[in-house]
Amino acid sequence: MIDLRSDTVTRPGKAMLNAMSAAEVGDDVWGDDPTVIRLQSSLAERTGKEAGLFFPSGTQSNLAALMAHCARGDEYIVGQAAHTYKYEGGGAAVLGSIQPQPIENAPDGSLPLDKIAAAIKPIDNHFARTKLLALENTIGGKVLPADYVVEATQLARDRGLSTHLDGARVFNAAVASDKPVSDLCAPFDTVSICCSKGLGAPVGSVLVGPKALIEVAGRWRKVLGGGMRQAGVLAAACLYALDHHVDGLAQDHDNAAHLAAGLAQIGEIEVQAHATNMVFARIPEAHCAPLEVFLKERGILMQMLYASRFVTHRDVSRADIDTVIRAVKEYFAR
Ligand SMILES: *Cc1c(COP(=O)(O)O)cnc(C)c1O
Repeated sequence: MIDLRSDTVTRPGKAMLNAMSAAEVGDDVWGDDPTVIRLQSSLAERTGKEAGLFFPSGTQSNLAALMAHCARGDEYIVGQAAHTYKYEGGGAAVLGSIQPQPIENAPDGSLPLDKIAAAIKPIDNHFARTKLLALENTIGGKVLPADYVVEATQLARDRGLSTHLDGARVFNAAVASDKPVSDLCAPFDTVSICCSKGLGAPVGSVLVGPKALIEVAGRWRKVLGGGMRQAGVLAAACLYALDHHVDGLAQDHDNAAHLAAGLAQIGEIEVQAHATNMVFARIPEAHCAPLEVFLKERGILMQMLYASRFVTHRDVSRADIDTVIRAVKEYFAR
């Protein structure tokens, strides 16, 4: 199957599975797993942070970070389109007693500075206490402008807020902007990074940040049910991905650009945007379901809602992209 639904669909290859089966393990709830410890310190070092903490998912890593930054009755400023706000079941409010203060994202994914400033509430018993600014990079595949990130986090700090980056795909952002990942993480107190997206590990995210905050997040991880035992088996896959798969993200980005160019040649399809490993295209509603079936019969999985998102990853080759473009052309040529 050529699966463009998400970059979460990658399967571990032989070398990664070998690394997993050779992993030295221990009980990580007791802090005894050497491979988990190695992953945590390796990502902390790569991102220029003091400490790291391994999580089963990015959702839990983000939530534990929000709960480490914010107490009950605090609030965090976040984009309407942000994963933490829109795609995590409202966890901050539901499980963290943290009020989200969503702001409409600008087309480039940023939160306008004047809107952030206006959303910060004075200390007053009427208001939730504004504690945190949370950004996302990449967001909808787009890399946040570096100057903007510096300005937004500076504004937050000037107003006494802490800062969190949902950096699920921050390595895509680093590769696309040809900068070390530590540069992109530097403006933030904490960063959550997924190894299970384009990096190609089967499971796992890591939260990095100051030691004191990571310790608080570690307590919440246990409370949220994320304390894992011989998790080194999973951490070994993440370490393997960090050592071997980061450079390959450039190929995914190139493949997405190639897919966007190919789809743009088809009159019925409007390519709305492409950035890093994502392509967004509008397909006439009447064609969505039949095209999905047509492609599935040819071994191609695409998520076909009105504004379809196609995601490239390491299990999709350049030749696969050509196959997809040919099949979509064939469908519309019938
Ligand atoms: C996937 C994703 C997450 C959550 O990761 P899961 O491991 O799926 O819980 C968080 N933020 C962003 C931007 C993501 O793409």
